[in-house]
Order: sequence, then structure tokens, then C-alpha cells
Amino acid sequence: LPISRSLESLELKDIFIAVKTTKKYHRSRLKLLIETFQQYLHLQTYIFTDSEDVALGIQSGVTLINTNCSAAHTRQALCCKMSVEYDKFIESQKKWFCHVDDDNYMVLPSLLRLLSSYHHSQDVYLGRPSLDHPIEAAEKVKNNGMATPVKFWFATGGAGFCISRGLALKMSPWASLGNFITTAEKIRLPDDCTIGYIIEVLLDVHLTHTYLFHSHLENLHTLPIGTVLQQTTFYNFPESQFTYVSVSKCNSGHSGPGRFKTVHCLLYPDAGRCPEQQES
Ligand code: UDP
Ligand code: MN
Repeated sequence: LPISRSLESLELKDIFIAVKTTKKYHRSRLKLLIETFQQYLHLQTYIFTDSEDVALGIQSGVTLINTNCSAAHTRQALCCKMSVEYDKFIESQKKWFCHVDDDNYMVLPSLLRLLSSYHHSQDVYLGRPSLDHPIEAAEKVKNNGMATPVKFWFATGGAGFCISRGLALKMSPWASLGNFITTAEKIRLPDDCTIGYIIEVLLDVHLTHTYLFHSHLENLHTLPIGTVLQQTTFYNFPESQFTYVSVSKCNSGHSGPGRFKTVHCLLYPDAGRCPEQQES
């Protein structure tokens, strides 16, 4: 990143990290995330789920927020969660809103570096486009039942994305207090597309295409090892035996859940959480 663009001295506590999860992943994905993220979880990470889990909250010390949204993988349920994430961020007074799924690992120093090159009062929407072209949607126009075609870019939620506070505040009429769900119904698209729709179409602000965020839609075999720590997020396949980020230092044939730990180990060699040590 160009140092000269650095506008703001930002700290991790200025970033609101919203992790979306669901009851059935509390003991698998969330457990893994807590193991690697632990040292930061207290500061600024909020876990949005759909059930009470007092035991996990106490045991891990993380903030679990029960959205009371349905635990279904439907557009309505996911948009319900995003709507709660948004409201909690606004309430938090923090400078940046970053969303990730529970199968994503965030490289926090890198995220901090990225966000520091912008100012939170500017209109900033950062993420990885999930398509190589803008999505086309039919926007339902009020009253007459007609639909207007709209085209816009959106950041894929599965790779993580960030929004500055300045921009988030402008989204309020369409995003706050349940309005997000109504907005999503206007275009009948998932939560991450709805975010793009509000920002690009309704607010005329453009997505900054950032390829440092990584989702399961990619093959990371070709990612040079030397650039691993510059990336902001990695996708993890908790259930899979497939390893695609080969990190030489800690990569002793680890697969599946080990990969979260692999990147974590590379980042924090002293954390005592290298896969070799952990699982021996
Ligand atoms: N998720 C959810 N409710 C569900 C299923 C999934 O909130 O019923 C969350 C899940 O915890 C994750 C995100 O939605 O944060 C994406 O789910 P998943 O990784 O299973 O699906 P994919 O990435 O293939 O869309
Ligand atoms: Mn996923």
C-alpha cells in the first residue's frame, strides 16, 4: 500500500468485526475461530448467531449476540442477521465495520494497514467482487409493481468486506432498524448483494475492488507464499481435507482445520499455537 495515502492512525479497537455464524457451527467453526482469534476477540469482535449459548460465551469470553433471526440459510434469515450487525456497529461508535463469515480467517495487522490508508469519514466500501462483472438485478419500484433493471458491483460476503463509518451512516435509511430486510426484498438478492445495492445504486458510491480478501470461490494454490501475510482474509474449509495455502514454515502436511492455525502460526510464531505443537 502506498504509505503516502496513510491518512489515519488507526488501532484495532477502532474496527468492529462482525462474524456471522449459526447454532450448528458453534462447536466446529466457531471453536476454531476462537482458538486462533482469541487474543483479539475481546477487543472488537462480535459474533452474530441465532441461539443462546451461555456456556460458550463464558468459556471463551467472547461476545455472542443472539440476533433472534431464524437459523435457516434463507435470504430473509441472512438479511436479518446483517441488519442486526449493522445496527450494532452504528451503536458501537467504532470507525470501521468489517463483516466475515465464520469460515474466514482475518489477518488483522494486514486489515489494519489496509484501512489505515483511508479515512473512516470518507465513503469507503472495500472488498472482493464475487463476479468479474456487475450483477444485474430487477429493482421493484414502489406502487406500480414494475421492475427496473439495475447493475452494480458488490463485495462477496464469504471473503469479508469493510465499510467506513461515514458511508455506513449514509446507508441508514435503507439499512437500519430492519429496513435492510425491506431493501433486500426490493431486489430479492442475498445480504452481501443488498449491501452493494444500497452503496452503489442508492448512494452512488463505488466498491473499491480489493483482492486481498479471499473466499471459497478461489483457488489459492498460486498465491505466492511471501504474500500470505499481506492478505486480509482467508477462507477455510473446516470439513475438508484439502490444503491450498501452502505456508512453508508451518505446513507440515496440515489440512482442514490446521490451515487456520497455519496462517495464525505464521503471523504469531510465539503464540504457541503452531499446528505441530497444538496437535502433538
Ligand atoms: N449461516 C447461517 N445460517 C445458516 C447457514 C449458514 O447464518 O443456516 C452462515 C454461516 O455460519 C456462515 C455463512 O452463513 O457464516 C455462510 O455459510 P456457509 O459457509 O455454510 O455457506 P456458503 O459459504 O457456501 O454460502
Ligand atoms: Mn462458507
